[in-house]
Amino acid sequence: MKSKLLNEVTETLLMGPGPSCVPNEVYEALSTPSLGHLDPHFIRIMDDIKTSLQTLFQTKNKLTIPVSGTGSAGMETCFVNLVEPGNKVLILSNGVFGKRMQDLAGRLGAEVDVLEFEWGTPVVPADVEKKLEGSKYDLIAVVHAETSTGVRNPVEEISKIVTKTGALFLVDSVTSLGGIPVKVDEWKIDAIYSGTQKCLSCPPGLSPVSMSDRAVKKIMDRKSKVPNWYLDLTMIINYWAGEKRAYHHTAPINMLYALNEAVHLILDEGLENVYKRHAEIHEYLGKELEKIGLNFYVEKAYRLPMLNAVTIPDGVDDASIRTHLLKNHQIEIGGGLGPLAGKIWRIGIMGHTARKENVDRLIKGLKEVL
Ligand SMILES: *Cc1c(COP(=O)(O)O)cnc(C)c1O
Repeated sequence: MKSKLLNEVTETLLMGPGPSCVPNEVYEALSTPSLGHLDPHFIRIMDDIKTSLQTLFQTKNKLTIPVSGTGSAGMETCFVNLVEPGNKVLILSNGVFGKRMQDLAGRLGAEVDVLEFEWGTPVVPADVEKKLEGSKYDLIAVVHAETSTGVRNPVEEISKIVTKTGALFLVDSVTSLGGIPVKVDEWKIDAIYSGTQKCLSCPPGLSPVSMSDRAVKKIMDRKSKVPNWYLDLTMIINYWAGEKRAYHHTAPINMLYALNEAVHLILDEGLENVYKRHAEIHEYLGKELEKIGLNFYVEKAYRLPMLNAVTIPDGVDDASIRTHLLKNHQIEIGGGLGPLAGKIWRIGIMGHTARKENVDRLIKGLKEVL
């Protein structure tokens, strides 16, 4: 029997900035009997998760593992392991998650420099190139899919500029992974993290992370210990790799089952098919929104398919519309953040949510409330 409060939970169509809808197979995976975290069968499952994450990230990086914790734990893992006090870090920032990177790097005693771009517009590679003339950085970081604004940053082009300088290249792929191509090896990304509750359509709780050999070398050559015990990869790696596995912290067993299932569902559908589905549903959403007089906020070339920033028409009250959608239609969409609060809605069609019938249900609801 479930507790009273859990019994009162009704299904909500999750069309905000995450979490996204979870397929039944993943819910079923969560209720698979727990095993010990050093059980030989569980270790086989861990190995399978590593391999499937490599496929998802399109990388051969040996250090490719899910970190315990949500996307922000992955962000923190990358920064605490790769940054030492006094290191020079450049953040290319155009939204909430760029700002979060800046905050994080500053806490580690790095010399943090920020190249800012207006929210709702992309990072401009030519400006990055100019910024890097004559300056040297140990690490340069950018968010691939800026969930706060619906902007896709041109990671591949930025990579060509960054990697010439010798800096480590760190990318946030929390919202992009499983929705648009993320090519870690081809784009020479040194460190990347993601999250489970966006396009992977698994509940929140894990953060897939991958590090290149250069990044691993930087960690092994550190002069000081990693300042965060829980996320110290020099210790965690002894649990995730090698003949004999050593306890560090108890792995979130059932969450890992869920991730295993979620990633297999994506790989079974096929990466290209999954990207295509996101692109097509995004197109469809755009057409249907236009019919009811709503438009995308971001310029077409930089729009994310899985996170759609939509301009709120003049005279329409943001919060009351969202409340009404949730209460009367059981549909969640997101509001704007920072300078975009009250100006945009954020409509997510992430992973399992990216289906025509969900867009139809949202449009029907929006028609009624508008
Ligand atoms: C959601 C998100 C995060 C943070 O992930 P949490 O799971 O909320 O900790 C980081 N970066 C981006 C781009 C995100 O969309």
